[in-house]
Amino acid sequence: MRRIRAPKIVLTADETMMSRYRWGIFVGFSTCLPQGILPNWFYFSVFSPPVPRKDGRAVYADFGLRVVEAVLAEEFGEDEVAVVHPRELEKVAGGGESRTEIIGVSGHDFLGINPPSSEFVDLLNTGPPYNRVKFFELMQKPVMQEKTVVAGGKAAWQLADEETMARLNIDYVHLGEAEITVPKLFRGILEGERLPKIIKGRESNADEIPNIRGATIHGLVEIARGCGRGCSFCTPGMQRLRFKSVEHILRDVKTNIEAGQRSILLHAEDVLRYGAKGLAPDEERVLNLFRRVASVEGIKSVGVSHVALATVYHSPKLLKAVSEICYSTLDQDWLGAQTGIETGSASLIARHMRGKAAPSPPEKWHEIVTQAFGILDDNNWFCAATIINGLPGETVEDVVASVELVEDLKGISSLVVPMNFVSMRGSGLNCEGTFTMAKMTPEHWQLFGACVDHDLKVTPKLLSKYKNNNKNSKGECVKTWLLSTAAKQMANALRKYVGKMKRGEPPTERREVSKWLNPEIPDIK
Ligand code: SF4
Repeated sequence: MRRIRAPKIVLTADETMMSRYRWGIFVGFSTCLPQGILPNWFYFSVFSPPVPRKDGRAVYADFGLRVVEAVLAEEFGEDEVAVVHPRELEKVAGGGESRTEIIGVSGHDFLGINPPSSEFVDLLNTGPPYNRVKFFELMQKPVMQEKTVVAGGKAAWQLADEETMARLNIDYVHLGEAEITVPKLFRGILEGERLPKIIKGRESNADEIPNIRGATIHGLVEIARGCGRGCSFCTPGMQRLRFKSVEHILRDVKTNIEAGQRSILLHAEDVLRYGAKGLAPDEERVLNLFRRVASVEGIKSVGVSHVALATVYHSPKLLKAVSEICYSTLDQDWLGAQTGIETGSASLIARHMRGKAAPSPPEKWHEIVTQAFGILDDNNWFCAATIINGLPGETVEDVVASVELVEDLKGISSLVVPMNFVSMRGSGLNCEGTFTMAKMTPEHWQLFGACVDHDLKVTPKLLSKYKNNNKNSKGECVKTWLLSTAAKQMANALRKYVGKMKRGEPPTERREVSKWLNPEIPDIK
């Protein structure tokens, strides 16, 4: 085994976070599925193969890990930090003579308790979710016992409890943004200071966020942080809204292009509000951003992570102009994004997420959603939207309003994904407050059935878009065939239950909550 000079700091994540997923970003959600449906070896070689590695370093990595890598490289030097796939950890950081002192671990859902993992586990009941299984597997590696371990990232709150940390052998948990506090924390550890075990990061200004130094999974490039619409249950909703400069964004785009990526995914909670001072988009700044990104040499397509339906509804010309820039200058004829419907009920919008409809009042929410989806469809956008069952204070009328809204989206090219509300207590899952299958009423099953019915009808369209996009790519035939076969099998399995669910009946006889929902934290020491 060739030894690699170990850096002082190694950054990693569990295997589910270190893949480019065979068919793109939507397939990444399959890491929230419970194991037991497919053999693990098949899933991790076909659906979620590891990212390529060079000299032990991951060639592509999660954007958050890349930001932490950049802030630490500024502080300690580039040679002292490496982002490493778990399969290479022993080779890079292990062994008696290794110089590595700290391993930083990032995660989006370490314990598999966020939606949609919690919902998939509860519904399918075949085992614990892949993300939890792989995280525990990572923490059990001997090299993780030898080093100081710092956990951070979006799901750090799940580990911010001294008992959980002791069981999993985690020395420090860093909560929140990394730029200002992480370098101080890592320096303190290396210099042997006594530090609190749980550290809350300070929010940085946009100009304090460094450029990334390596390529990201799916060419994801962050353009803004925060949202500004202020929904009560949402983390980005609580963050201050900040925008990176176009020059900064272009440097991150070029880092990805130089690493061989041809597609770039612009990430913000609402890409159409890039540079906006209030709720109304600054159309010229958005169009300038798209023009400048689309003109980077080597780029073939641009994607968008999220758009807000209210922005689409209030600024349809902006959406059209963005689409025209992409379709006329790049090798693409459609765009996709994620968005949130969350409910069809104006009263739940008024109660929990008034800002979602703004500047219109909550009573307009049904119209905003249906019109916005129409505008997106007219401009060849394919969106995946979430809708939530069991929001606090929900009534039967609220659920019926959601069913009616989904039915009004008939024929629109989009996926509507029903989620169950997840309630958190401290750093864990609050099973009583969480909405589970066992709590579903006939109306909830009708909503579930309406979503699945809608999605099954648009799946062939989605598959043909994927086929067209990849028709000239070498080696894509087998992959496309595999994807179509898996999607058709899944569709056939679901189709059997649609009628039953639309009549308000559960698809199975099981009534109790899945035993896999609440994680059992292993004692690693
Ligand atoms: S609009 Fe979306 S991202 Fe913004 S606060 Fe609401 S749920 Fe969060």
